[in-house]
Amino acid sequence: MPDDWDVIVIGGGLAGVTAGIAAADADARVLILEKTADPGGSARLSGGSFAFAGTDLQQQQGIDDSPDLLREDLLTVGEGRNDPELVDLYVAEQLAAYEWLREIGVPFERVSLSSNQSRPRTHGTNAPRMFEAVQDAATGHPNITFIMESGADRLLRSGNRVNGVLAGGTAARELTAQSGVVLASGGFNRSKRLLQAFAPRFRDAPPLGGSGNTGDGILLGMALGADLVDMGYVKGTFGTSLPRDSAPPILLIAMYRGAVVVNVHGQRFVDESLSYKTIGDACLEQPGAVGFQVFDSHVMEQTRPDLTVNDFEGALERGYLQTADTVEDLAAKLRIDPPALADTISTYNADVRSGGDSRFGRSSLGNGVGEPPEVAAPPFYAYPCTTGLPSTYGGLHVDTAMRVIDVFEHPIPGLHAAGEVVGGFHGASYMSGSSLAKSVISGRVAGRCAAGIAQH
Ligand SMILES: Cc1cc2nc3c(=O)[nH]c(=O)nc-3n(C[C@H](O)[C@H](O)[C@H](O)COP(=O)(O)OP(=O)(O)OC[C@H]3O[C@@H](n4cnc5c(N)ncnc54)[C@H](O)[C@@H]3O)c2cc1C
Repeated sequence: MPDDWDVIVIGGGLAGVTAGIAAADADARVLILEKTADPGGSARLSGGSFAFAGTDLQQQQGIDDSPDLLREDLLTVGEGRNDPELVDLYVAEQLAAYEWLREIGVPFERVSLSSNQSRPRTHGTNAPRMFEAVQDAATGHPNITFIMESGADRLLRSGNRVNGVLAGGTAARELTAQSGVVLASGGFNRSKRLLQAFAPRFRDAPPLGGSGNTGDGILLGMALGADLVDMGYVKGTFGTSLPRDSAPPILLIAMYRGAVVVNVHGQRFVDESLSYKTIGDACLEQPGAVGFQVFDSHVMEQTRPDLTVNDFEGALERGYLQTADTVEDLAAKLRIDPPALADTISTYNADVRSGGDSRFGRSSLGNGVGEPPEVAAPPFYAYPCTTGLPSTYGGLHVDTAMRVIDVFEHPIPGLHAAGEVVGGFHGASYMSGSSLAKSVISGRVAGRCAAGIAQH
């Protein structure tokens, strides 16, 4: 392998591979470095939902949406804390990103409504298949070399310009990047150190992201004076299984099918129709940060083996659920006071019958859609869970050319970033599907700019 390249991309996940392809399409000789043995990072583990607006698929389903509405929603969800220029970039580039994904063979099957969307705009795809298509486009590209198990350890500079990477751990090599370096190393959900510094209440939340998501790009940027934005706006996902010896964590979301959520005292603590991120915040305030999704056979009947978050049968078979014929017996299995849980469920059912939730004002299954049913048809099920951390949303400060900005608000010459390692797109909160879309959008821009075909 040569030591001299035009563009070096750090991270072989969705943003990095996309950036590599964009740079290679601009005739740059590209090296993509991936520190783990398998590429794909969190992207391959993800739910595969992309938030796009104004697509042909939406039109086919009769969904009235537009880029302007997407912009409004992103700013509303982000509580106006997001960088409006990055939001504009997302909105301006998202349809081209969607078309590009389709061109390289990513199948989008249907559009559905997800958390924090005012219109259905989750374009669903199978995440491993999606990443495979992106990876194939890179490995088949004559200008791209993609190497695994080769992490970037340091950025190299000539004067104040980033011009290379020290990579490879003990067998470290100095690799030169004539045109630019793109940081695309993902987020920091596996860095206890960064979580402790910026979002301490998530320090011990179970991490769900790719094994390489240890915030390396943030540290590499910080070492050169990079500014950080939105680091404290960490949001966890409610529905993450409690740690079990050797079993991997799963994500199960039964609330939007009709489950209620109670704490260890058998008491509800939240409107279950709210975003799983908001419920995640509420769960962290509960004793032991534990919540139980309690549901009945009507919800179980809606199990979907193809959709992991709704695969209730699968979760039961693998021992993640408790079940019993009465609410009291279920409570006993959960070590919850049986009369307390029975009282919670009967109050909730009476509220459902009278058409109003007297405790938390729940009026829909989720996101304003659907009517909550009673939890009354045995057998009953409970899923003990907590708030896990699939991704982070803050990171390096970038401009609209994905140049990394330093603490004195100047671009660091030669350094770009893309994907979860950057902050500014989401602001205070997250719209479902906007992370994967952001990775493709920012990856395409970063790759083009690092290759020198866009204005610096
Ligand atoms: C369970 C789960 C479900 C999700 N569902 C969705 C969803 O449905 N919709 C959505 O929008 N978002 C979702 N997300 C978030 C989304 O997957 C990520 O935000 C997105 O994949 C980030 O892409 P990325 O390329 O920036 O990072 P990643 O895909 O994580 O890739 C980063 C890569 O960089 C590598 N790397 C790290 N450090 C180095 C280094 N020093 N040198 C070389 N390589 C390095 C990592 O090993 C990794 O392969 C989900 C995340 C998880 C975990």
